[in-house]
Amino acid sequence: MEWKESISLYEEAKSHILGGVNSPSRSFKAVGDITPIFMEKGQGSRFWDVDGNEYIDYLAAYGPIITGHAHPHITKAIEGAARDGVLYGTPTKYENQFAKMLQDAIPSLEKVRFVNSGTEAVMTTIRVARAYTNRNKVIKFAGCYHGHSDLVLVAAGSGPSTLGNPDSAGVTQNIASEVITVPFNDPQSLAQALDTWGDDIAAVLVEPIVGNFGIVEPSPGFLEKVNELSHANGSLVIYDEVITAFRFMYGGAQNLVGVEPDMTALGKIIGGGLPIGAYGGKQAIMEQVAPLGPAYQAGTMAGNPASIRAGIACLEILQQEGTYDHLDHLGKMLEDGINDLANEYDIPVHTNRLRGALTVYFNVDKVENYHDAENSDGDMFAQFFRSMLEQGIHLAPSKYEAWFLTTEHTEKDIEETLKAVKQTFSKMKSE
Ligand code: PMP
Repeated sequence: MEWKESISLYEEAKSHILGGVNSPSRSFKAVGDITPIFMEKGQGSRFWDVDGNEYIDYLAAYGPIITGHAHPHITKAIEGAARDGVLYGTPTKYENQFAKMLQDAIPSLEKVRFVNSGTEAVMTTIRVARAYTNRNKVIKFAGCYHGHSDLVLVAAGSGPSTLGNPDSAGVTQNIASEVITVPFNDPQSLAQALDTWGDDIAAVLVEPIVGNFGIVEPSPGFLEKVNELSHANGSLVIYDEVITAFRFMYGGAQNLVGVEPDMTALGKIIGGGLPIGAYGGKQAIMEQVAPLGPAYQAGTMAGNPASIRAGIACLEILQQEGTYDHLDHLGKMLEDGINDLANEYDIPVHTNRLRGALTVYFNVDKVENYHDAENSDGDMFAQFFRSMLEQGIHLAPSKYEAWFLTTEHTEKDIEETLKAVKQTFSKMKSE
């Protein structure tokens, strides 16, 4: 495969755009610092780069593209928005329609607000939780990414529960001291942290199903325990469902696990590929937000008609019967195929999968928390990633990122992918 144009565009990009990319994970640094591929066009489960190479896409733009690229129903919605004018700075009827759709799908959203990104959504839930509880600190789980606002860029590392250290320059020690990190799936550590800092814990922030160190499900009873311990302490429970909502079923992961948080942050899929975020929760808590309450949140682009109309169209597609069975069927086919080939070639692979999302880890027996995911073999993954890319299979460039299926993937895509996996494992075995 030739990447001449991508290489040349990357060189040009680097002289104008810091680092050549507008989000660090796009740089391919984690997989050997190779040139990122510049895409030109996408259709369904595939996209094509500027050199004309074709790829089956499992990146799905890190989650949002669940109905594939350029789905005609979403394209039509965006065209409609473009024709009618993309922004007025006034309310539109589409916001009502979409808010109601989200509430029907996720009943804990007694009131919602639209923002522009997952980062904004999570950041605002924390502000509102602090306003409601009149407390300062937040507990989060190690390795969980919640966007790039200061407070949550803290202590993504593993280890015992401790006051956080910043993961990013520019995040002050003061801010870091307001975050306590505990391991996922470890109720004892959470109980300890609540014992120690309880009076000042405004909220416990959790991905109900982790998406950011691979797909990691809560152990039985874990989320029930999170609610029980937090509520006994007077703290709110915030679910970050930016990745998980509408990924595994029509609704939130909270519907799937059967536990309701006090507040929820949403993003990604609900914008149908356009920028969006949303947050919501119990009426009494949401009443903290301006214009009704003292907690401020605003946005020039918040609820813009293009994102909202694309989001409505996306959810309409997902409502179709069989959507999630299709994703599950293809996910299982992919997972079984990878595991069979790993056995055949004696490659130490461990897969975590839930319906249409899976993660392939190397050289670990299980992944239940960030520590396990960290232990997976980055060199093996880098070798795997590069070989798959050369065969036209585009994965996320990280050893614990998920592969995402879309409604437009087919059995033929999976068969083609498994051929590439076979080739790759055979190469890895012989090297
Ligand atoms: N929360 C989670 C769980 C995420 O995965 C992400 C993005 N990967 C965010 C928040 C931030 O969303 P955004 O990139 O839209 O700001």
